[in-house]
Amino acid sequence: MLRPRDVADGVSAFPTRTPTLPPATHTQSYALGTGQVLLVEPATPYADEQRAFIEWARGLGREIVAIVLTHHHVDHVGGAEVLSRELGVPLWAHRETAARLPELGIARQLEDGESITLGDQHWQVLHTPGHAAGHVCLFEPQLGAVIVGDMVASQGTILIEPTDGDMAEYLGQLRRLEGLGAKLALPAHGDPIADPSQLFAHYVAHRLEREQKVVSALEGAGPAGTTDLFIVPSAYADTARAAWPLALLSVRAHLVKLVAEGRARTDGDKYWIS
Ligand SMILES: [Zn+2]
Repeated sequence: MLRPRDVADGVSAFPTRTPTLPPATHTQSYALGTGQVLLVEPATPYADEQRAFIEWARGLGREIVAIVLTHHHVDHVGGAEVLSRELGVPLWAHRETAARLPELGIARQLEDGESITLGDQHWQVLHTPGHAAGHVCLFEPQLGAVIVGDMVASQGTILIEPTDGDMAEYLGQLRRLEGLGAKLALPAHGDPIADPSQLFAHYVAHRLEREQKVVSALEGAGPAGTTDLFIVPSAYADTARAAWPLALLSVRAHLVKLVAEGRARTDGDKYWIS
């Protein structure tokens, strides 16, 4: 894998190996800014990859202001403590991420709408919950580039699970990203995505299609109702059985949304269409 790689004016990508969901094997870290530099995704827990990351960061030859965590998942923060210490720079993240990683001592809590100036670039913080409660994206309007973390990926799928994730919020934030009119999305997994608005819209459509299959399974069950386990084979008939354990989490996330919207009812075990 080529690294580092310049992917936009003032934006360099550096993938490192991480314990992430197959088929992805790496997480992309980014260096942002035309003056001072902001690093995003201190992802790798492996010592050899951390050494490569440190060499890359020092080789930028510019002042590093901080390392930003897009969210708290293990394939995004595995190097946070070591890289922050070795490079002597603070960690920044949303308060919901900071609350989930108290051991890291997040130095600055990022808020939706704030702007981070790096040379002549101004990166806006977008709080985009749904995949993770504290997920943030970074958008530079002049450049038209947006760091999207795990909101979308050009490799692998994005898991929305029912406890920390929130399907309704996720879809709302995808529509918000679509509305940016960005020219380039930079995901944590896979290659840069040109003209990403279509992809954001596609992700929403795909999730709503899946939601409709969940609704159809509920309708098919009738007054007897059904459980999440029984919904998976009909809602994910097009998906390999090996993926069904993850599909079950997605079904649960859809069911939470349907119940919240009053479109389904539950006794905590079985579900019925309203
Ligand atoms: Zn994630």
